[in-house]
Parts: sequence; C-alpha cells; structure tokens
Amino acid sequence: MSTLQHLIHGEACDGGSRRAPVFNPSTGEAIHEVPLADAATVAQAVAAAQAAFPAWRDTPPGKRAQILFRFKQLLEQHEAEIVAQISREHGKTLEDAAGELKRGIENVEYACAAPELLKGEYSRNVGPAIDAWSDFQPLGVVAGITPFNFPAMVPLWMYPLAIACGNAFILKPSERDPSSTLLIARLLHEAGLPRGVLNVVHGDKEAVDALLAAPEVKAVSFVGSTPIAEYIYAEGSRRGKRVQALGGAKNHAVVLPDADLDNTVNALMGAAYGSCGERCMAISVAVCVGDQAADALIAKLTPQIKALKVGPGTSPGLDMGPLVTRAHLDKVSGYIADGVAAGAELVVDGRGIAVPGHEGGFFLGGCLFDRVTPQMRIYQEEIFGPVLCVVRVNSLEEAIALINAHEYGNGTCIFTRDGEAARLFADTVEVGMVGINVPLPVPVAYHSFGGWKRSLFGDLHAYGPDGVRFYTRRKAVTQRWPQRASHEASQFAFPSL
Ligand code: NAD
Repeated sequence: MSTLQHLIHGEACDGGSRRAPVFNPSTGEAIHEVPLADAATVAQAVAAAQAAFPAWRDTPPGKRAQILFRFKQLLEQHEAEIVAQISREHGKTLEDAAGELKRGIENVEYACAAPELLKGEYSRNVGPAIDAWSDFQPLGVVAGITPFNFPAMVPLWMYPLAIACGNAFILKPSERDPSSTLLIARLLHEAGLPRGVLNVVHGDKEAVDALLAAPEVKAVSFVGSTPIAEYIYAEGSRRGKRVQALGGAKNHAVVLPDADLDNTVNALMGAAYGSCGERCMAISVAVCVGDQAADALIAKLTPQIKALKVGPGTSPGLDMGPLVTRAHLDKVSGYIADGVAAGAELVVDGRGIAVPGHEGGFFLGGCLFDRVTPQMRIYQEEIFGPVLCVVRVNSLEEAIALINAHEYGNGTCIFTRDGEAARLFADTVEVGMVGINVPLPVPVAYHSFGGWKRSLFGDLHAYGPDGVRFYTRRKAVTQRWPQRASHEASQFAFPSL
C-alpha cells in the first residue's frame, strides 16, 4: 500500500498528520493512503499559487494555450493508464472511464481557444473623441473542490479554463479516488505549466474550510452533494468569494405512450445503470404516462436488468462495476429496504449479487421499483446507486408538475414521437438540462453545465461560456485623447451625449 502526496509548487510533498484509505472497490482492499491536508498545508498551496499568479496573468493567452495543446496530447497518449486508474479506485468500467476522460479532454480543447475566448468588447466614439472597451481579467487564486464520481472529468471542467483565463488554481479532489486526478495534474506540468499555477491538495472538511477561510482565494467552484454545496456557497459568499456550487440530483425520464419503446428501454438501461447509477445526470425515476406505457416498459426492462453483466470494472466487456465504498453500498441497500417497507413494488432486487473471486467487493445488481409515490423517501432523495423507480401518472401535465415540485432540477428527459409534447416539456419543465429522446443531456464543452433549484447554488453554470465569465472579471475602460489645443470647461451635470 503506497501513500499518495500533494502537488504544491510543482513538487510532490506530504502535509497533514491524518491519512485516509483509498479502496479498490472491486476487491474491498485498501490500496493507497491519501494524506489529509491541514490548514498549514493549504496555506503552502495558497502561497505557491499567489506567487505564481502575476507572471501567469501576464503570460499571453496564446502562450498559455500552447501548454494546453500539449496537455491534450499527453492526456491522449496516457489514456490507457488514466482510465485504468479511474476504474481501479472508482470501480466504473474501463469503457465508461474512457468516456469520462474524452468528455474531460473536450474541456481542454475549449480552453485552448483562450485567445479567442478572452477577446474584449470595444466601442469606438461613444462620445466626442471617447472610446470604450471591456477587458476580462483573471481573478487571481481560485479553488476547485470535486466529487468522487468523475475524478478525471469534473476537475477538467474547472482548471483548464481557469488557468487559460490567467488564474492560478488549487484543486482539492475527492479523497476517495485521487490517483487519476493526480496523474492528470502531473501531465499538465509535463506539458510545461509553470510551477504553482496548478496545485493539488488532498483532504476533507479541514482542507476545504482552510480554502474557504483564505482571503487570497477569490473564487470557489464546487461539485458534490447538495448539503455540502449549500455549505460552500453560504460560507464562500459570506466571505466575499465568487462561488458556483453544483449539487445533487433526482433526474426524471418521462415516457409517453407514443415513445419508441425499444429505444427508450436501451436509453434508460445505460442512463440508470451505467456507472452503477453514480452519476449526477443518472436517470433514477421513470415517469410513465398511463398504465399501458408503464407495464410495457417494465416488461422490457426487467429481463435486461437481470442480464446486466456486473464485475470488477477493470475487466473488459462489463455493464457495471461495484459501488465506490462499503459505506455507500450500505447506504444504497438501506434505501432499497426503505422502499420495500414503504410499499413500493421491488420488481428486480439486485442485493446479494455474487461476483466469483471478488467476494469482498462492493457489488450491487440493478434494482427496479414500480408503484413508487412522491411521498416515499426513495423518490424524494438522491440514492446514487443502480436503482430505477417507476412512477405512474395520467398525463404529460401531471408528469411536468411532478418534476417541477421536486427540490432538485439537474437533468431530465422525455421520450416521445410528438414534437408538440416535447416542446411543451422543454419550455415548462423547471430543470437546467433537458433531453428530448436523449437520456443524458450533458452539454458539450462549448455550452455550459448546470442544474436549477437545489442542484446549483450560484449564478453561473460550469465550463463553456459561463466558465469564462466565472473565472474572469470585467473591467470597463473609457478613454479620451483630447486634441492638444482644446480645453473643456468643467461639467457639473452628469455626463451624457
Ligand atoms: P460529497 O459532497 O461527499 O464530496 C464532494 C467534495 O466535498 C469532496 O471533495 C469532499 O472531500 C468534500 N467534502 C465532503 N464533506 C465535506 C464537508 N463536510 N465539508 C467540506 N467539504 C466536504 O460528494 P461525493 O459523494 O464525492 O459525490 C457525489 C455527489 O456529487 C452526488 O450528490 C452527485 O449528484 C454530486 N455530483 C453533482 C454533479 C453536478 O454537476 N451537479 C456532478 C457530479 C457529482
């Protein structure tokens, strides 16, 4: 078992006396220890970032972009190694990890356009001999705090764009699967990033609280569960920081009676059970309009769920790996027991699944509940496991009202052949990301990602155009060069045309 290290000022280092185990969830064994940074270690990272900022701010955006181009190449060259590390600590399948990395690389590609993205706005002759422009300047030192479920992609939502904009960055990745995150940060240094521009500190609440308390940290991007997102938003804002805090989800898929059933079932299988349901955009509720649609959907889903190939994520050709930790397996199993006790019909029970040779792994098979009602805890709360709940309603309007009444509003989708129904759904549903016959409507890198309601605290969404605005501040300059001979009298009225 090896001990991982922080990456501060481009150097691997220890810091903090506490350690946490990192597990291989397919075997249940602890494979690494990760140091948990204390306030002094975080202060070192803040000092390194603060020292690196002025020169990096003054580096031309085109030169910053050249480093990011090399970074993209290195990420592609090291794909197999990164993907294996993700799978080994998170548990997701190799194919799924490769998809995560590719979506992360898209964000590096977007950040490579830094010179174009940072172009200001200019207006000539706004008054007599007066020109005006807006610049988009970096904030200084900014921080990112990321969840376990996308150890490569979610950090790549943040720091490539933040540093492309000229900021220095401190990343606090999830302590549950930090190895791939760390490897990727090293590759950025190999690509030529100056020391101190990106620093990685491992840790838990203590490290996060130290980042929130540091006045030098001007902005915080957070992705994780809603209670922590709300805490980060409240604490960060109270201290005058800019904060975007993305939280949890309960994503509904509406199935209308006219939907193409085979396509709907295939789409739902991947969206509900891919990555063992540990995605913030996973579909966890299927809202069927009419009993006929519900019965037909369940009849087709059931054999496919029972046939899911579950095993260690690092073996090729599987549908699902294990859950991330024993504690998370117990939590998800608790929800299943709770759903049964509340009267929901457990059509497929994935508990007690055996994976030969991996008896210590944190495995759970796919589960399907029918006749779930909005009063049940399995409907109200995010389970974050391979559990799909079917809710039956009588109309599209009832389906939309149900979704709009839920506290979360991250993603949703509708399956139908009816364009009018799809348009009404997209117009009126109170959710930040909507799919029409698309089960996981994760926006591409040149749009921005974010939910509504208690799935996002803050104004700007993550990455894409909103990311550029989040990591820069506008400066408006108004300039006059009067002719040498002309002298204007003082004006006491407010200047206007
Ligand atoms: P989490 O909230 O437990 O942890 C996220 C980060 O916060 C980690 O870095 C963790 O170390 C830190 N943290 C944990 N407890 C803390 C505390 N008390 N104080 C300060 N920091 C703390 O989330 P997770 O279990 O790693 O990830 C799963 C959650 O993330 C799910 O709820 C999922 O929906 C959400 N998520 C949301 C999005 C999105 O874009 N909206 C994307 C991915 C994941």
